Amino acid sequence: MKAPKPKTTEVLARPGATPSEIERAIRNVPDFPQPGIQFKDITPVLADARLFAGAIDLLIDKWRPGSVDAVVGIDARGFIFAAAAATKLRAGFVPVRKKGKLPFKTIEQDYALEYATATVAMHVDALKPGARVMLIDDLLATGGTASAAAALVKKLGANILEIAFLIELKFLNGRKKLNGYPVRSIVAY
Ligand code: AMP
Repeated sequence: MKAPKPKTTEVLARPGATPSEIERAIRNVPDFPQPGIQFKDITPVLADARLFAGAIDLLIDKWRPGSVDAVVGIDARGFIFAAAAATKLRAGFVPVRKKGKLPFKTIEQDYALEYATATVAMHVDALKPGARVMLIDDLLATGGTASAAAALVKKLGANILEIAFLIELKFLNGRKKLNGYPVRSIVAY
């Protein structure tokens, strides 16, 4: 038998999620997109209303509306968390995208991949000097992407309050590349 649909008031009153509940919902997909990579699939977290809202609350736990001017999200899964966080914090949302995707004038930053380099970009007018910024991505692996995004924020003269990730792969030591910035992760492997 199907469970009865919750009333609107019950949905609004649902408690937040714990990191271990979020961890249990993250799906591990072996050998995607290539052999040897254990891909952390966050779509089951997004699909669950309570876990998604709870994840956002945990990511922005330290900050109150009005204390952050902009949330910078990293292409592409970072956008999902950063945009939701921005509306809760009453802050603007700024995308860091892969090179060639943004329509206006950009600043760019290269970073090293295992066998190549990649480039991220941000609009030149995306942040005001002195803006209080939170940087969000879904996952911290080697830290190359987030440190390149942080460099873009610094190039525009804005201040990074914190860099937050839903997932951190601790064994890859990504935090080392982000030294100097406060880093938060909700679920660590
Ligand atoms: P990195 O620059 O090495 O820290 O890689 C971080 C970026 O790559 C993030 O934007 C992630 O979305 C993605 N990523 C790296 N490793 C994984 C993984 N095992 N599962 C899911 N996404 C990953």
